[in-house]
Amino acid sequence: MSALPPPVSPGNPFGNSVTYLMACQQLRAVARAIDLDAGVAERLMTPKRSQVVSVPVRRDSGRTDVFIGYRVQHSLTSGTSKGGLRYSKHVDLGEVAALAMWMSWKCAIMNLPFGGAKGGIAVDPAELSRNEKERLTRRFTDEIQNIIGPRIDVMAPDMGTDEQTMAWIYDTYSMKVGYACPEIVTGKPVELGGCVGRREATGRGVTYCIQEAFDELGIRAETATAVVQGFGNVGSVTCDELTKLGTKIVAIGDRYGSVRNPNGIDVAALHAHVRAPGNDRKTVVGFAGAEAIPDSELLTTPCTVLVPAAMERVITPDNAAKLKCRVLAEGANGPTTPEADDIIARSDIFVIPDVLCNAGGVTVSYFEWVQDLAQFMWDEDEVNSQLKKLMLGAFRRVRAEAKARKFGMRSAALSLGVQKVAREKEMRGLYP
Ligand code: NAD
Repeated sequence: MSALPPPVSPGNPFGNSVTYLMACQQLRAVARAIDLDAGVAERLMTPKRSQVVSVPVRRDSGRTDVFIGYRVQHSLTSGTSKGGLRYSKHVDLGEVAALAMWMSWKCAIMNLPFGGAKGGIAVDPAELSRNEKERLTRRFTDEIQNIIGPRIDVMAPDMGTDEQTMAWIYDTYSMKVGYACPEIVTGKPVELGGCVGRREATGRGVTYCIQEAFDELGIRAETATAVVQGFGNVGSVTCDELTKLGTKIVAIGDRYGSVRNPNGIDVAALHAHVRAPGNDRKTVVGFAGAEAIPDSELLTTPCTVLVPAAMERVITPDNAAKLKCRVLAEGANGPTTPEADDIIARSDIFVIPDVLCNAGGVTVSYFEWVQDLAQFMWDEDEVNSQLKKLMLGAFRRVRAEAKARKFGMRSAALSLGVQKVAREKEMRGLYP
């Protein structure tokens, strides 16, 4: 094997993002462990296609603001590229590239016929009115129209975006091409060709993985406790699904604060609190059924399973040794830094890595895309049973890889994902 490429080649436009460097660091470690060809490793480190656009938006006040939007397609080797669209003020090109790379491994682990992609706009969605969000979304769609398409690149919701965002993209794209094209996005409302169970799919997939890990460790879900960071799509559904298994949710946090109740948080009552008129930030803060705690205590609250389901790089060398969980189930993408991973590897924490744990979303997105192309819709039982089958199949393949190569769960998952994409690249050859 020739020497691996440097972490980032000179002039690499993604290189000043810590998240991109983290994704490359993970890839380099697994490339070394599986003896991957250096040329293939370099191709996998460099996203295939990226577009940066300016998105001017007329504010309700009449002022015009310009936001920066990104779409990165990491790999086109395995098929149509697929990945979410994120609205967050921290978004930059490198972060989107890292998320696109992780999508490639995730799709490969799940055996889905997709390459990885991701998009984002550097904006705080909480500071936009609904009309401003609509104008932003439509203009962004128009700006990246040349690199998306139902057989080219398909978006889905991610942090800060939702079913309504997808409906606006669907409408804007359809107006451009002149016919209704629901297969341009997934995670849209069911009435518009969305898939039943897509909204809940990521949290359900997280819960299937947790149940599987509990079975392996001999833990009964009814006696377990959970701490969840994030009460958005992934975090809230994970709380619902764990509650159905009898697991007590003892602490939850969001971007505004954290709450704890050692006797178990009433998740239905928390949903009502978050949706209550007057709770404009839709936050868990102020919930009467729990006490407020400092954010710094959330992730280190003792529990059976810790579910980071908000953002990347929250488990670092500063808090990794203080985690008091038996299972770490990564609902978010990239929540654990490689340095924190090394610390966790020396503990008895069972890690369900992001590229496996949160793959339920893209899996049901795949079902939605297939249904839209075939114009034949499935019912929710079919969706959920297929999701469970694919998630458990992937979990067991990762487990088997971990045992066969004596890898931790993250290395095993990345190993499977990277090997699949690398094999496909080798078989297709290098054009011309
Ligand atoms: P969301 O916007 O619905 O919810 C995000 C949640 O995180 C909110 O509760 C928000 O308050 C909280 N949050 C934001 N910043 C925080 C901070 N600094 N500290 C604590 N909490 C914070 O987003 P989502 O769709 O649930 O996505 C969450 C994570 O899951 C992201 O990493 C995303 O990439 C990943 N993910 C989402 C999907 C999906 O289907 N939506 C699929 C796979 C992975």
